Amino acid sequence: MPYMPRTLLLLLLMSLSTPALAQQESWKAPFPAHKIAGNLNYVGTEDLACFLITTPEGHILINSGLADSALTIRESVNELGYTLGDIKILLTTQAHFDHVAALGEIQKLTRAEMFATEQDAAVLEDGGKSDPFLQEQYRFTPLEVDRRLKDGDTIRLGGTELVVHLTPGHTKGSASYSMSVTEEGKKYSVVIANMGTVVMPLVGNSYYPRIAEDFAESFRVQKALAPDIWVAAHASQYDMREKYERGSFVDPEGYKRAVDRLEKLYLEQLAQERQEP
Ligand SMILES: [Zn+2]
Repeated sequence: MPYMPRTLLLLLLMSLSTPALAQQESWKAPFPAHKIAGNLNYVGTEDLACFLITTPEGHILINSGLADSALTIRESVNELGYTLGDIKILLTTQAHFDHVAALGEIQKLTRAEMFATEQDAAVLEDGGKSDPFLQEQYRFTPLEVDRRLKDGDTIRLGGTELVVHLTPGHTKGSASYSMSVTEEGKKYSVVIANMGTVVMPLVGNSYYPRIAEDFAESFRVQKALAPDIWVAAHASQYDMREKYERGSFVDPEGYKRAVDRLEKLYLEQLAQERQEP
């Protein structure tokens, strides 16, 4: 990239990440609710992934879609034979509007507790105001965060255990979660990953000075996880449709490829930004 003042670069990055119309359509288009494996289910739209982890003592919902997605999620939960009101815990992989904007409404409907990482909790509680990436049109209903998650914490509900892995960079508090599921008598390791896409400057970022170091550490963490099954915040990131049609989400190689590809993009952008005068 030729020389560009930081503010211009920031604007360029923001416009690049502004959803194109086609993307918006897939963010809203309904998609059949389905079981991924064991007690892990999909209740999102064509591209905005929401996950329902069911247990005999209530359920965990990870991510919502856009602000008007509560109804779609409710329908998907019902389609699988469950009830929205039985959701006890809300989580997110990143505090960006396209993954959290309906969580406030769902929290009111279900009285579920919101758990979030320290850094994302701040953004969730102010509806996105404190994150400069979230311009006016990307703000959302503020949430009440009931528990602050730390790296390595375990979330327990009805015999299911989810381990929290801080994987910051995309947002300051982005998180991934690991668990194991049993499907037809076989045990699989699962990662619900927040993929490391870069949407802010990596050098001289006054809002997020540690961004480059955080990404580097997050890629190291994600590579060490090596799951049998993986999913991510955007369905397109893990080829959801293809796997859904195939009827299997087992894909250890695809996970490695996806993490390596994003790490390479991150390193390329870092090198480019460092070359600027
Ligand atoms: Zn995002």
